Amino acid sequence: MTTIAELLAQSHILADVSDSAMLDCELLLCHCLNKNRTYLRTWPEHDVEPRVLDVFNGLMSRRQQGEPIAYLTGERGFWTLDLSVNSSTLIPRPETELLVEQALEFLGDRAKATIVDLGTGTGAIALAIASEASTGQQWQVLGCDVQPEAVALAEKNRQQLAIGNAHFIQSSWFDAIPAQQFDLIVSNPPYIDPQDPHLNEGDVRFEPRSALVAKNKGLADIEHIIKAARPYLQVEGWLLFEHGYDQSDAVRSLLRQAGYTKVETRQDLNGMDRISFGSWLGDVDE
Ligand code: GLN
Repeated sequence: MTTIAELLAQSHILADVSDSAMLDCELLLCHCLNKNRTYLRTWPEHDVEPRVLDVFNGLMSRRQQGEPIAYLTGERGFWTLDLSVNSSTLIPRPETELLVEQALEFLGDRAKATIVDLGTGTGAIALAIASEASTGQQWQVLGCDVQPEAVALAEKNRQQLAIGNAHFIQSSWFDAIPAQQFDLIVSNPPYIDPQDPHLNEGDVRFEPRSALVAKNKGLADIEHIIKAARPYLQVEGWLLFEHGYDQSDAVRSLLRQAGYTKVETRQDLNGMDRISFGSWLGDVDE
């Protein structure tokens, strides 16, 4: 028999692919045992059943090939939510929580609000915002994604989390969204330059390219959203989206050129430009 301590001692085989080899090893073992990390620390001398050992070894070798932990365990925490994840969507990133924080700042204590999340993937942003509506606040969140697998996953997450004020539809950006005016439009669109060498490194190699990469140095989808969002915004509604650390000058110009006001950028916890937003004052001459 093999003990928990002996299995964790194998973490070094992940050192080449991961900066967090021990944590990865622990998370995979927790997943196989259906226990938390405290359990591993408390019972290092416990034997692990051969059946569990086989599953663990299989996951360790997939991790050794570079597969992201979230795809191996099928879950990832985002905001206060435990989300199911699969390879049809981007894995939610901690820095994207800034988008949720800013969205909540815009929504404040409004009794009613309509929100759309474009390219929702796992539903992370839509569900995080929806989950923050307190009793008495009627916030309706619509999430859309062009990939039917993503829509199914977001809906599964919605059901698992029992969030009643969100729903999901299949749509390429605004194409299938019925004409209406939202108070807030949020998005974490694809924004990586197709030539970016990082696409060949680490976890992103396993994520869908369509969720990561956009033409025109990564700006094509952002530019489309900026223009297409206008008829979908209430007067004084906000458009808010994530972008690359080096795209803030470009996206602020695009927002201003398209007639948005109060255009600003905010930095993530690493001090990198990460989100920008603008407010829509209704039709303006272009
Ligand atoms: N921030 C992600 C990364 O750099 C990209 C997310 C996106 O394209 N929306 O891997």
